[in-house]
Amino acid sequence: MSSKGLLIVISGPSGVGKGTVVKALLKQRNDTEVSVSATTRQRRDGEIDGVNYHYMTEEDFLKIKEQDGFVECARFCDNYYGTLKSEVFEKLESGINIILEIEVQGAMNVRRKYPEGVFIYIMPPSMSELRARLTGRNTEPPEIVEERLKTAKWEFTHLDKYNYIVENENVPQTAHTISCIIEAEQSRMERKIDYMKERFK
Ligand code: 5GP
Repeated sequence: MSSKGLLIVISGPSGVGKGTVVKALLKQRNDTEVSVSATTRQRRDGEIDGVNYHYMTEEDFLKIKEQDGFVECARFCDNYYGTLKSEVFEKLESGINIILEIEVQGAMNVRRKYPEGVFIYIMPPSMSELRARLTGRNTEPPEIVEERLKTAKWEFTHLDKYNYIVENENVPQTAHTISCIIEAEQSRMERKIDYMKERFK
């Protein structure tokens, strides 16, 4: 392992398939892991505590916030979500790349603190496709689907805050594109120069 891991922030509208893309990406790379966030939202069918999220009460969430245990946290569609420091820093130090799959406000907070991170936004092929995916997964009632679509439109006004925009036409291709971004970012001069100088002095 040559140096510190990359902090990779992946955002994208609800329903774009971020989770599936990240899963496919992790299969392609053994140097990369995903941070499991804390949330106060209800667990969906099929989700596992400690794997998809650390599910907790609002009281416990706010306690961790008070103790400065989050890298960032945000309120999104009436629930709290937060990146736990314990999921991130030790692993980055040991050279593992860490993915944060988080929404735009959280991403912008991370960017202020860690501008050296890699910020990627995943776009759907179209708005109608996004609506179809959100409706089709049957996990949220119609009014929540509408709220998430509205939030998506707001998110699209913040694309310029990201380093990369990747369209998710098909999952393996999207995962491959992100893997290529990781390769390129790992080769950036400013990330490698100190390590190379030390190795070849
Ligand atoms: P969902 O409820 O669909 O699992 O997630 C809703 C949104 O919250 C998604 O955009 C997801 O990326 C985002 N999210 C998940 N974990 C975090 C987190 O730790 N911090 C922030 N800011 N957003 C998160």
